[in-house]
Amino acid sequence: MIHKTRLFTPGPTPLLPAAQFAMAAADIHHRTPEFRALFLKVLAQLKVFVGTRNDVLLLSCSGTGAMEASVSNLTSPGDRVLVLSAGKFGERWADLTKAFGCQVDVVEAPYGQTFELAQIKAALKPDTRAIYMQASETSTAVNHDVQAVAKLIKEANSAALLVVDGITGLGTTHFDVDGWGIDILIGGSQKAVMIPPGLAYLSVSEKAWAAMEQSKNPRYYFDLRKERKNATKGESAYTPAVALIAGLGASLDYIAGQAGGDLEKGRIALINNAQVNAAATRAGLVALGFTLFAPTSPSAAATAVAVPEGLNSGDVVKALKTKFSLVTANGQGTMQGKIFRVAHLGFFDYLDTVAFLGAMEHIAKDTLKLPVKYGQAVAAAQEVYAKAAAANL
Ligand SMILES: *Cc1c(COP(=O)(O)O)cnc(C)c1O
Repeated sequence: MIHKTRLFTPGPTPLLPAAQFAMAAADIHHRTPEFRALFLKVLAQLKVFVGTRNDVLLLSCSGTGAMEASVSNLTSPGDRVLVLSAGKFGERWADLTKAFGCQVDVVEAPYGQTFELAQIKAALKPDTRAIYMQASETSTAVNHDVQAVAKLIKEANSAALLVVDGITGLGTTHFDVDGWGIDILIGGSQKAVMIPPGLAYLSVSEKAWAAMEQSKNPRYYFDLRKERKNATKGESAYTPAVALIAGLGASLDYIAGQAGGDLEKGRIALINNAQVNAAATRAGLVALGFTLFAPTSPSAAATAVAVPEGLNSGDVVKALKTKFSLVTANGQGTMQGKIFRVAHLGFFDYLDTVAFLGAMEHIAKDTLKLPVKYGQAVAAAQEVYAKAAAANL
């Protein structure tokens, strides 16, 4: 039999064919009217995709570049910041803020769980300059409650800025950026927007722009004020990743096209899609006897699955790859060998979920020697799908 390669990783995610064609055809110079028109169109679309009236900037770097920019542009050495950390990406915020000389308070939650709000409240000090958190912690496949943290900042009458790594949150979670008061919300190209790695985008509030005027950390390539100035003219400060920007435009057109050309509705459809596929995947895997690693606050971007005691999650990842050319992600750090992760964000549809669960039935039976009745996982997923379809999601 032949195999089709299928990416089920939470970044990079499967590529949209229309975006691939647009990238291949993007033979344009970046200081031309053609590029300026493309860049302005994509920036306007991104505002709708993020769902904000704030400025949205597009940077040629992976997601971490925008994370770094939101530390270097907003803080000065010695500033007190609060990092919410419950996985590898939360740990990245702690490392980054320390690298820029911040005094870092950390609220932690164990891997697989989300935070206690009371702990965040207690850790928020009058001089806390900013809170850094993930919306979806991809390493553990946990969803964090950004709305609750935003509310807590308001209720405490705190001047703290709220900086959210939404790199796998965007396109899988509903955000009210302006209503809640998210000062910076970061996305990345290789996640829900269906194109390769290399672009990061971020929304920046007026409060964040004002804060930048006081911050004294060094910045050069990632000087957001410079990017904003250039963006108004349809340019970026340095040579941008032109082909990826063309691909992003095609992806955002596709997402709008899923809802009759309305990008806001398309975004909602994309989020619902991830949530339905995540729920169907969880139901299917539980029906097969697996334990979810993040049962209480699961992310819709990916599902993390614990393998039974004595087994190695690497064996599942390897078997899916060799038997079905289906690529999933092992756990990171201390979670390696204990969990594996399967993605739902971006260009996945329900039939992809059925394919994955069908493969898992074979792996569970043949590789893990679990008692499996064929159809068991798929049947559980079909129930979830039927309910979602009846609710017109
Ligand atoms: C993918 C990802 C990042 C970005 O990592 P890069 O490798 O720099 O693109 C950051 N945060 C989260 C939550 C992610 O999933």
